[in-house]
Amino acid sequence: MAENRLYGKCPSGHVFLVAKLPMELGKAAALAKRAACPNCGATKGIVVASPNKEQPHG
Ligand SMILES: [Zn+2]
Repeated sequence: MAENRLYGKCPSGHVFLVAKLPMELGKAAALAKRAACPNCGATKGIVVASPNKEQPHG
């Protein structure tokens, strides 16, 4: 695994970087909870995305 980055995906399907790992799991979880989509501004329904399957939209 070359990169350890935590990506989120909003209900609209935008994928974006949430956090760079490693970091404390609790901190990463907090970032994920507060994550907002930079494309559409969605703050609810953000799920963890796999960068292996999905590419971020810039
Ligand atoms: Zn979005």
